[in-house]
Amino acid sequence: MAAADPAPSQPVHGTVPPTAGLPLRAGDLLPGNVRLDAALAHFLGVESTQIACSGTAAFVAALTALSRLSPERDTVIVPAYTCPLMALAVAHCGLRLALCDLRAGSPDLDPAHLQSLCDTRTLAVVPTHLAGRVADVASALRIARAAGAWVVEDAAQALGARVGGRSVGLQGDIGFFSLAVGKGLTIFEGGVLLARDPELREACAAALREQARPASWRRRLAGHAWDLRRSVELLGYWALYRPGPLGWAYLRPLRHALEQGDWVAAAGDDFGAYIPLHGVGRWRRGVGARALARLPDFLERTRARALRRIARLARIPGVRVLGDSPAAEGAAGTWPVLLVTMPTAHSRDALLREGWGAGDGLGLPFAHALADYAAYRHAVPRAAPGELPHARDLASRLLSISNSPWLDDARFHAVCEAVEACADRRGTAARSHA
Ligand SMILES: *Cc1c(COP(=O)(O)O)cnc(C)c1O
Repeated sequence: MAAADPAPSQPVHGTVPPTAGLPLRAGDLLPGNVRLDAALAHFLGVESTQIACSGTAAFVAALTALSRLSPERDTVIVPAYTCPLMALAVAHCGLRLALCDLRAGSPDLDPAHLQSLCDTRTLAVVPTHLAGRVADVASALRIARAAGAWVVEDAAQALGARVGGRSVGLQGDIGFFSLAVGKGLTIFEGGVLLARDPELREACAAALREQARPASWRRRLAGHAWDLRRSVELLGYWALYRPGPLGWAYLRPLRHALEQGDWVAAAGDDFGAYIPLHGVGRWRRGVGARALARLPDFLERTRARALRRIARLARIPGVRVLGDSPAAEGAAGTWPVLLVTMPTAHSRDALLREGWGAGDGLGLPFAHALADYAAYRHAVPRAAPGELPHARDLASRLLSISNSPWLDDARFHAVCEAVEACADRRGTAARSHA
C-alpha cells in the first residue's frame, strides 16, 4: 500500500496517469480460482453480479435483454455528453439513439428535456455517474417510468460510489461498471452488470452467455483470442503502470496526438466501430478479484485526497469543481479525477494547450458533446447549432485533473497555479481583443 500511495510530502517523479487507477501487484497475477463475480457482489453488497468483457459489452447485454422484454420499443436516451462507446453500442444493437441535454453546469440529464424526449418508443434512459460523480437517477426513473421505459445506470467510472449507503447502479433497472484501464479496478477490459429483478437478471445473463459462448466455433475461437490478447495487455499494465514506464506507454502517444492537434485521440475517444463481445477467462477474473481486496482502502485514500484538493481548487475565481448531484440524497461518489469547469472555453483550451502534454494529470473526460464528433456521425443524431446548449457548454469548459496518488502535493499546487493563470487570463484576453 505504501508503494501505491506515498505520503503527500514524498515527491514522485515521472508521469501522472490521467485517472487514479489501482496499481496491480505481482501477487495479483498468480493463477488460482478466485470468483470475481462473487467478490464484487460482496464488495457492492448485492446478491450477485455478472461479468462482461467490457462496460460497453455489459451495456450491449442490457439493451439486448431489454429489447427482448419490450420488443415494441427501439429508442435509447443517453446524456449528450458521454462516452462515444455508448452511441456505438446502441447502433450495434440496431436501436435508435436520442441525445438528452444536461442540467446547466452538471452531468445530470435535464428533466424537462428528458420529459420531452420520452414516449412509447423509448426503451431505456441512461443516467450516467460521470467520473465517479453520483447522478440524479430518481428524476430519470420517474420520467422514464411514466413513459413505460427502463432505466440503465451507466456507472462505468463509478465502481465503489454509493448513494444512501447502497452502491450506485441499483436504483434503476440495470446498472453497469467498467473494469477498463483507468476506471479504478481493472482487468484491462471488463464490465460488471447488476440487475435487481430476477427476470431481468436472467435476461441479462442469457445475453452475456451468448457473448461468451456464441454458437459458431469461429466466433468462440475469436473470443478466446480476444481474452488472450487482454491477458497480455493486463500483464503490460502491471509492468508499465508506474511513474517511469508510463512516460513511454501513455505520455509519448498522448504527445504525438497533441502534436497532430487530435484532441479526440488525446482524450482516448478514438474508438473503432467494432465492439468485441466475448468471455472473460479465469486468470483475468482471479487478478481482478485479488486486486479488489485493496480497492476499499485505495478508494478511501483517494477520497481524502480529493476532498483536500477540492478545497484548494475552490479558491480559484471562476473555477468550479463538480460534486455529486445535489438531487442524489446521501451520495458518496468516487474520485478517479477532479472534474473542473473553467470560466470559458477559451481559458479551458489555453490550459490544455499549455499543460496537457506535461504528464501532470490534466486531461479531458471526452473531447466533445456526442453530436460534435466527426467520426461518429453514423451513430449519432444530428444536432443543430444552439441545440443541446448545456451539454455543449460543459464539453467546452470541462477538464479533469487526475487524482492519482502519484500527483504529489507540489505538482498539484503547480497545476492549480496553471489553472488560476488561465482562468484569470480570460479577462485579459477579452480586453485585448476589444
Ligand atoms: C468508459 C466508459 C464506458 C465504456 O466502458 P468500457 O469498459 O470502456 O467499454 C461507458 N460509459 C462511460 C461514462 C465511460 O466512461
